[in-house]
Amino acid sequence: MDRILGEGAFEVLAKAKALEREGREVLHFEIGEPDFETPENIADAGIKAIKEGKTHYVPSDGITELKEAVCEHILKTRGYRPDVEQVLILPGVKPGIYFSMVSILEPKDEVIFQDPSFPTYRSLVRYIGAKEVPIPLLEENEFRMSPEDIKERITEHTKLIIINSPQNPTGSVLTKREVEEIAEIAEEHDIFLLSDEIYSQMTYGVEHYSATKRDEARERSILLDGFSKAYAMTGWRLGYCIAPKKLIEKMTLLLINAVSCTAPFVQIAGIEALRGPQHSLKEMMNKFAERRNAIVEGLNSIKGFSCLYPAGAFYAFPNIKATGMNSRELADLLLYEAGVAVLPGTAFGEAGEGYLRFSYATSVETIERAIERIKSALH
Ligand code: PMP
Repeated sequence: MDRILGEGAFEVLAKAKALEREGREVLHFEIGEPDFETPENIADAGIKAIKEGKTHYVPSDGITELKEAVCEHILKTRGYRPDVEQVLILPGVKPGIYFSMVSILEPKDEVIFQDPSFPTYRSLVRYIGAKEVPIPLLEENEFRMSPEDIKERITEHTKLIIINSPQNPTGSVLTKREVEEIAEIAEEHDIFLLSDEIYSQMTYGVEHYSATKRDEARERSILLDGFSKAYAMTGWRLGYCIAPKKLIEKMTLLLINAVSCTAPFVQIAGIEALRGPQHSLKEMMNKFAERRNAIVEGLNSIKGFSCLYPAGAFYAFPNIKATGMNSRELADLLLYEAGVAVLPGTAFGEAGEGYLRFSYATSVETIERAIERIKSALH
């Protein structure tokens, strides 16, 4: 238990809330969740289900209708149709990360993952007693993990490669060629491949491609996706996993022991999210595109900052090395002097040193105010 880690976003949120209790106004860029409400048709479907009494235990692996809706969605978005038995419905994507890693890994197995990356991967590798093999993401390569770097780090102990594209915290999106090469490497060396695709529907003019297409998640690859981001449903807790049947069976046992099942009315809301109208997602992405321009332009106008345009998700990851401060010092200064809550890049791994993460799930007006406050705090 000494090895398991928390999450920087929640730590900074707690500090920001403490400042707010003292009467300070804080502009929030720390937590990675859309500021939009859950679309009304989805919320209504959930409320209706509660009123109809869909409030009891259901089969642990999920409601069949939602699993079928997920299979249709995967066919439409990833180009293959998984069998219903390959689908597991979960209370969020996070339990999918947890259950799959606990199922696959033994102590001393090596796990390749992006650095910086979503902190849960590293935390679970440590918790299980497996070995971390981080691959530094380079700004010169627009923070995309290179397949060559993966090849170099494979040993006889490598058991799992984790990829996340579009990526948290850098917003990078792997190209189709890179994704295909990574899937080939996993096949060649008989390694599991966990593809966290929670931001799959959130890209700006580039296409998302799934690494699970190669084996259709039948042999070694595992696809995780969910409803938290694309449908602004972080608090509902709903996600799914597509994986080889044998693995799904074991993950279902973990789910039975941990949570019994995912709330049925939440799953019914999920059916509406996938099968209902998609205009809310389009409107949300149009807004995110405006905010992306506002934040990248704003950050690039601050002395000592330089920021690439993220290709996906809703995170800007500016390089702040020229300010002469390290990530944590600057993040603290921005919180306490400017009232702007951001995360140090190091909250996502050592290779995040020299960067900050801004979650731009906030209005253009708030973005502009934050940029002005940062400029006055630094000059
Ligand atoms: N994976 C990544 C890469 C994420 O950024 C997040 C949320 N910040 C999650 C998983 C967790 O998603 P959920 O809320 O569905 O558990």
